[in-house]
Amino acid sequence: MNATDLIQLDQQHIWHPYSQVNSPNRPLAVKRAQGVHLELADGSQLIDGMSSWWSAIHGYNHPELNHAVQRQLENMAHVMFGGLTHAPAVELAARLVELSPAALNKVFFCDSGSVAVEVAMKMAIQYWQSQSQGEKHRFLSLLRGYHGDTFAAMSVCDPVTGMHHMFSEVLTQQLFTEAPRCGFDQAWQQEFITDFQQHIEQHHACLAAVILEPIVQGTGGMRMYSPQFLRQVKQLCEKHNVLLIADEIATGFGRTGKMFACEHAAISPDILCLGKALTGGYMSLAATLCTDQVAEVICSGEAGVFMHGPTFMGNPLACAVANKSIELLTHSQWQDNIRRIEGVFKQRLPEFLNLEAVAEVRCLGAIGVVELKQAVNIPQFQQTIVKRGLWLRPFGKLVYSMPPYIISDLQLNTLLDITYHAVSCIKES
Ligand SMILES: *Cc1c(COP(=O)(O)O)cnc(C)c1O
Repeated sequence: MNATDLIQLDQQHIWHPYSQVNSPNRPLAVKRAQGVHLELADGSQLIDGMSSWWSAIHGYNHPELNHAVQRQLENMAHVMFGGLTHAPAVELAARLVELSPAALNKVFFCDSGSVAVEVAMKMAIQYWQSQSQGEKHRFLSLLRGYHGDTFAAMSVCDPVTGMHHMFSEVLTQQLFTEAPRCGFDQAWQQEFITDFQQHIEQHHACLAAVILEPIVQGTGGMRMYSPQFLRQVKQLCEKHNVLLIADEIATGFGRTGKMFACEHAAISPDILCLGKALTGGYMSLAATLCTDQVAEVICSGEAGVFMHGPTFMGNPLACAVANKSIELLTHSQWQDNIRRIEGVFKQRLPEFLNLEAVAEVRCLGAIGVVELKQAVNIPQFQQTIVKRGLWLRPFGKLVYSMPPYIISDLQLNTLLDITYHAVSCIKES
């Protein structure tokens, strides 16, 4: 099929993320992808500054990841996980337990990040039900947070920036506390925890858990915050008998400079959600980890079991590629590499402050953010950068990049040059 027909058929039949059908903004057809590049139907090459939404950390078409999938395919693509097991899932669970903060010893595999959040919330609710404390079934989360698109996950997203405000009438009403005010490197003041403290003191009797994205709030605002905030949240959760769910779906696997963002604060949550980079961007897989204690309490309850089990749970192909992706990461000098990328962001982002349209810049690990004064005209912005060989997908006022870890200094500088040019073309309206 030629590229024109392909786009036309696409527009006739397909929903893309957060889009109208028959959108006037045509998607770009990708023919193949290699390393940090997406190759379009017309043969042009774009540096992918998004890692396909945080996931393709090793770049595309990686020979060892390809090989891991091919080898597993020769044995089996899938078998049900109810009553059966297999090496790819067992090895992956052991790896995740080994890699993740202490205490997290039990692994529940599922299909996607949003489902991992549903599972985490269900675990927290069942944990209290099993102890005849069913009144503890609500969640406290942070403004500017994002946890996914399914209904329970939506209920803990920021009611405004989390993109789900139109559903507020039908969602379970949860509790929200102010977004962390203290930047990652900023000096801590005790008043920064006051709002959170008041909420947990007042509502702990009805709270199953606090849920948050540790250190970096992603899709709800690309904000980096002080490890001190996370440390104090953990202490207050313990003090008031509320579980802590860390949603590391975006931050996990090295993105922030630590394997998991919780390590910046040296804390271990009760429940941890992983997804996105878990398979190196190859396929959809997520995991919810919990402590032995959470698992034991759930299984001691009336039901005696945890009430969840997706059809494609622990898919062997996905687990096989996840095992290889983690092996590639842990066998590399990944910390030096993330520091290298962060170094380039740190050096280059301040230049953007010279531009009329720019309000603020920030970075942490392999995440660089340019916050504009006004919302970006996304189609126009993308047209400018695609012409010069770059792929980014800004949202709202945020132009940001989290490139594959294999990006070279030269490629990263090109990415920033093109971004700088496109931001400099933005006219005040
Ligand atoms: C992307 C994301 C999710 C949802 O994951 P999906 O795989 O898109 O369902 C949940 N939480 C965070 C922090 C995310 O970044």
